[in-house]
Amino acid sequence: MGCASSIHISDRVVYQSGKESDDSQQTNTTPAPGLLIKPNAIKNTFTQVQFGPMRLYEDHLEVLLVFAKEDSQNNGFCWACEKANFRCNVARTPEAALECFQEKHHDLVIIDHRHSRYFDAESLCRYVTLLYQPDREEASVMPLINAGFNRRYVENANMMACYNELLQLEHGEVLAQFKLRACNAIFTALEQSQEAIEITNEDQVIQYVNPAYESIMGYQQGELIGKEIIEVPKSEKNKPDLLETINSCIRKGKEWQGIYYAKKKNGDILFTSYVSIKYSGDERVQAESQTDIQSSKHKDRRKGSLDVRSTTSRGSDGSSQRRHSSMARIHSMTIEAPITKVINIINAAQESSPMPVAEALDRVLEILRTTELYSPQLGTKEEDPHTNDLVGGLMTDGLRRLSGNEYIFATKQPHLPSHLAMPLSLNDIPPHVAQTMENEDSWDFDIFNLETACLKRPLTYLGLKIFSRFGVCEFLSCPEATLRSWLQGIEANYHSTNSYHNSSHAADVLHATAYFLCKERVKQSLEQIDEVASLIAATVHDVDHPGRTNSFLCNAGSELAILYNDTAVLESHHAALAFQITTRDDKCNIFKNMERNEYRTLRQAIIDMVLATEMTKHFEHVNKFVNNINKPLAALEENGESVKGILTSPDNRILVKRMLIKCADISNPCRPLELCIEWAGRISEEYFAQTDEEKRQSLPVVMPVFDRNTCSIPKSQISFIDYFITDMFDAWDAFADLPNLMQHLDNNFKYWKGLDERKLHSLRPPPE
Ligand code: 5GP
Ligand code: MN
Repeated sequence: MGCASSIHISDRVVYQSGKESDDSQQTNTTPAPGLLIKPNAIKNTFTQVQFGPMRLYEDHLEVLLVFAKEDSQNNGFCWACEKANFRCNVARTPEAALECFQEKHHDLVIIDHRHSRYFDAESLCRYVTLLYQPDREEASVMPLINAGFNRRYVENANMMACYNELLQLEHGEVLAQFKLRACNAIFTALEQSQEAIEITNEDQVIQYVNPAYESIMGYQQGELIGKEIIEVPKSEKNKPDLLETINSCIRKGKEWQGIYYAKKKNGDILFTSYVSIKYSGDERVQAESQTDIQSSKHKDRRKGSLDVRSTTSRGSDGSSQRRHSSMARIHSMTIEAPITKVINIINAAQESSPMPVAEALDRVLEILRTTELYSPQLGTKEEDPHTNDLVGGLMTDGLRRLSGNEYIFATKQPHLPSHLAMPLSLNDIPPHVAQTMENEDSWDFDIFNLETACLKRPLTYLGLKIFSRFGVCEFLSCPEATLRSWLQGIEANYHSTNSYHNSSHAADVLHATAYFLCKERVKQSLEQIDEVASLIAATVHDVDHPGRTNSFLCNAGSELAILYNDTAVLESHHAALAFQITTRDDKCNIFKNMERNEYRTLRQAIIDMVLATEMTKHFEHVNKFVNNINKPLAALEENGESVKGILTSPDNRILVKRMLIKCADISNPCRPLELCIEWAGRISEEYFAQTDEEKRQSLPVVMPVFDRNTCSIPKSQISFIDYFITDMFDAWDAFADLPNLMQHLDNNFKYWKGLDERKLHSLRPPPE
């Protein structure tokens, strides 16, 4: 039945189901006719009985002899029991018999019916429902059968005759009753099953439907049982000869699997993925089952608008069960998300596909069912420890638990720069600073020169120059003085004490962003509002970065991690704080003069880009970019068709902006070698400081390879480039055409490889 949930049925449940007494023609107080089967089948000594796929354990038989007097017939059965290894009780009165029976529930009760003067065998039988009828052969057995006797034994005291009788009973009635009890267990399971199950005979007459079937299909049992399956309205979506196909399949003793559309009583069509037909012995049995996942999850079958038929028969193997239950899960989504449509198409394609294709599509479905569609499956522990640590350190948020030693960051108000009171204008930039920015539109621009010239506050100066180049103030209708105050306010909230995540990194990302915005393809794709959003996002994207990773903050139980639920903690903070700083004070509110809707659009774009710098989403962003932009562009260009639509669609502009800021954010390995080395030294130092602190605070060490005593910086850079950089910049280069960056990347990679081959751990080779 492929039930998702397991149903446990104890013997007690079977007996309480009341099926036995319902089916019998007896009154409720009287047990059904036939040999009684003890409820406790499993005791210390038992024999195994195979019943279909079930293995039953049958205890040695217990026999109750009700004989008023000891005579040769009584003794014959006693000896026979001994020979057969059955346990035997003898009762001389009806009262003793009932008492004994109530205690032991014998498998066989043999009642002496020869002498009516001792006791009334018929009424005793009505209580214990059993047998033994004497030698009045001329009498009809019907009254006795009605009384509950189901076998008559003609008087014969010969021990072998008694023995043979007992053996026949054991292998006939008793065994059959034993198996019937197992059937009861099965029916109880069917009744409880959340899958809709329908059983028909070989003539397609419906014999059984379970409650799940009733509620999913909207029929009552009584409307279906006894009807031929073709009388039940079917969906026109099925091929006309579908039932015939299924039938001929069963006749050959095969199982049928496929897609089937069932029609509810109210006319709704259920998309059903799978029907299988069971064939058992001579009897042909059709069993189809539907899973209504909605109901099996929520116990609310009324909601099941998309249902799945998924039957398994005894013959079907576990893999096909898995296959169909996974399809069921996917199809059960009631809201038609795009992924649901994709999966429906695949399912339909599977229907007419040969087995190898269907199986390949099964694997596709498995992958589609995962939520982490864009994250590469991480390899085993043997992999490079640097990669492992990067993954652990950058790709996870708070998955490592608190160590108990909580690290709380001091709450503090955002910084206000001391010189904010009298903002300088672009013309006031000191000449030596202006000079370091002369080639700011070149990729090889040296940010560290600027950093030194302006005493570690490069963001304001570079920001002023770049924002002015892109006409940001005009776009925002904001005075240059406001922009200057804003830049100073943002820069003041970068920690100059961080070796990497300080305002020089922000200025560097702003520089890369501006550089990318000038690329032809990017210009074709983005509008001015996108450019402005990109420049602002780059400027604020790491504001108030504490110099520790998200994992660290989560492990330490920091206030920020608590505030943002261990999810994109830093990125959420950068974006939120940026808007707080901006809007709190009119003097630096660059958005103040914007029209509301335009502001909302701009704000959304900035937030989206800042959040895109979160590394747990790295592969998602890169893969979406490749799939939605690189690939369609390549296809269109090959055919000489226009690419304008791909470049400018709102969805794709979002992907371009995300990719742009991500590439700008981690573009260090594509910078000229000297700059690349400097950045590598800074990020390593920041990670070392984190590891030092983790050890000091007894926190989990997030990236153990970044230990200042043992770390190989070349190796860490090689891993970072291999894991995050190469594919991303290949894709970005394919889009934006960046041969110089790729050349630097190549050089830098070779540089780190060279050091690593010489087993050097440092940033540079030792002086000759
Ligand atoms: P950000 O925090 O700067 O917005 O996001 C970029 C992430 O990449 C940061 O977590 C930063 O630590 C990491 N990263 C940037 N450059 C390098 C590098 O050269 N090596 C390594 N190992 N990580 C880097
Ligand atoms: Mn950054």
